[in-house]
Amino acid sequence: MCEARVPITEIFGSNVFSDAVMRERLPKNIYKSFKKVLDGVADLTPAVADVLANAMKDWAIEKGATHYCHWFQPMTGLTAEKHDSFISPTAEGRTLMEFSGKVLIQGEPDASSFPSGGLRVTFEARGYTAWDCTSPVFIKEDGKNIALYIPSAFCSYTGEALDKKTPMLRSMDALNKQAMRVLKALGNTSARRVMGTLGPEQEYFLIDRRFYEKRLDLVLAGRTLFGAPSPRGQEMDDHYFGTLHERIASFMNEVNTELWKLGVSAKTQHNEVSPAQYELAPVFATVNVATDHNQLTMETLRKVAIRHGFVCLLHEKPFAGVNGSGKHNNWSLVTDTGTNLLDPGLTPHDNMVFLVFLCAVVRAVDKYAKLLRASVANAGNEHRLGANEAPPAIVSIFLGDQLTDIFGQLADGGAKSSRQGGELQLGISTLPPLPKDCTDRNRTSPFAFTGNKFEFRMVGSTQSTSGPTFVLNTIVADVLCEIADKLEKSGDVNATTQEVLKKIATEHARIIFNGDNYCSDWVVEAKKRGLPNLVSTVEALNTIMDAENVALFGRHKVLSETELEARTDILLEAYSMTVNIEAKTMLSIAKRQILPAATRYSGRLGDIIGSVSATGVSADTQKKMLEELSALITDLSAGIENLEAAVAKSGAIEDCAGQAAAFRNILVGPMEKVREAADRLELIVDADIWPLPTYAEMLFIK
Ligand code: ADP
Ligand code: MG
Repeated sequence: MCEARVPITEIFGSNVFSDAVMRERLPKNIYKSFKKVLDGVADLTPAVADVLANAMKDWAIEKGATHYCHWFQPMTGLTAEKHDSFISPTAEGRTLMEFSGKVLIQGEPDASSFPSGGLRVTFEARGYTAWDCTSPVFIKEDGKNIALYIPSAFCSYTGEALDKKTPMLRSMDALNKQAMRVLKALGNTSARRVMGTLGPEQEYFLIDRRFYEKRLDLVLAGRTLFGAPSPRGQEMDDHYFGTLHERIASFMNEVNTELWKLGVSAKTQHNEVSPAQYELAPVFATVNVATDHNQLTMETLRKVAIRHGFVCLLHEKPFAGVNGSGKHNNWSLVTDTGTNLLDPGLTPHDNMVFLVFLCAVVRAVDKYAKLLRASVANAGNEHRLGANEAPPAIVSIFLGDQLTDIFGQLADGGAKSSRQGGELQLGISTLPPLPKDCTDRNRTSPFAFTGNKFEFRMVGSTQSTSGPTFVLNTIVADVLCEIADKLEKSGDVNATTQEVLKKIATEHARIIFNGDNYCSDWVVEAKKRGLPNLVSTVEALNTIMDAENVALFGRHKVLSETELEARTDILLEAYSMTVNIEAKTMLSIAKRQILPAATRYSGRLGDIIGSVSATGVSADTQKKMLEELSALITDLSAGIENLEAAVAKSGAIEDCAGQAAAFRNILVGPMEKVREAADRLELIVDADIWPLPTYAEMLFIK
């Protein structure tokens, strides 16, 4: 029998200092003043902040919290927190519980150990955190520790962004400003604000912890650096959307409960394509809140997995030969009056606002395709993008039949009709006809229109959603700015809009591709169309500092040139460090586990050959086995030497781009060779001696 459960409606948001909590706990005038701050029409005054802080403290203490922290997102892509307790000792040896508005608004962590890309030298340690009051404060329970979390931005003493949140917030301002200009020019008088919305679908793997612990590569690098393919992979297509295994279902249930408490609206869960791969999707939210929530989601997946005897692997490609993990960033634009600006409605051809925003996205994505590509470039995603499962490294847009048709009409001078979906007759008398969408899906496109939003599918599963999202916000703001400039000056807005749309539809037709993006023909076709194909991470990162990008971020005050340069260096350094760690981990496993196991097995075979021969029976087969084994041992040993030399040669180059390129060019080849020999050994060495859990075990045993 099912035990009685607390209703979700009671669990949801129970650890969030939400609107409902504020309404209940704040004096009316303070509540109203703070709402104005949230709407962006008033500044937060010290008086309001003090009352807010006090109410937060009381609420948090009632919930058992002893500490508070500014929770921020440094350039590591993870989150950071330093806890302070509420206690404030008195002269009589007692203590008060204190939390002031000042402390709520601003923190000052010693920031010297976070990556700053040269923005700050170590002795200039000061950094500031500033409360992002548009993302709700919440309580997090970690074991026995309960603390109040204050979502914050993080900057240097000189005010430069050192985190992932600051540019996100700045890009939201830019987007709002330019989108409002366009809306106004098109005659909209009701909207006061435009926001980006984001619903990131998160893919991940779960494997049993006992296997994980025996794999130093998973522990240190997050992905398997060795492993022969499992005799069975994903070819049966039986995992995707399959029945949830009971242990997995229990895990998901607990993840959901934890997330719901934090106000994260975990909504959809299912098995993914690869065995042991799963997905979780939330209901979308404003981009900054969605990004905070995605960070909490990744953390919760990891944490709850441990409780269930699993380890959650968020790496983009934990296992070779089966699908990797991405994060599908569903993105759209909404007004404060609730209109989704990318909702085509029933007759998109005469929905002017929709067409303008759609075309703005199309132009932005084509114009800044390299920047978008760079925004998803990391070491993990290199194994995914361009391999024939994930989206390719070429950015293109899927619009679907209906919109592609309209886009064509716009290029010809104006859209006059919209194709309709009609009905689907299943030929079964007991089932009603189903309304059919006007467009099929395309799962291979890196940037697909999916009904009333775009889905950016290149994002890596470990990545913060901030980077790709603030890039998207900014490039779209930039094109909206161009359009607004024209419309505001125009004497005939209608005619000017038609001209703008015609120009975009003509100039940017090349970025629209509805076919199979995994197919090799597309690579050839894309080249003909002049679309960039930045295959490697280093190549992609090296385009960030292109003059047009520096100008773009400067124009919209999202990142200064110095900030952009610092970020690029951090990303290149992260790439270098990752590859270097992988190479060193590989050497350690190869030398201390695989080579010894293989030689032990060769010794055993040698003994067997001796004892079998002594009986007078032929040991020819055993000899053949030993010969094959010895040859591979020689290969592996040579590979190790080669990789060691490469590691020595590639280290210690001063500039970030040079270093990253060296690691890519010098280490990756030798690493592949070591893996090749080791994986072949795995196929012939006695399973009892083989030191690492196999792909089959990790992917199939629960
Ligand atoms: P699909 O099946 O096309 O992937 P879903 O409806 O399952 O679409 O949504 C996938 C994700 O897209 C969810 O996280 C959802 O919240 C998000 N999403 C839906 N509408 C929007 C929107 N307007 N803006 C941003 N994300 C959205
Ligand atoms: Mg989707």
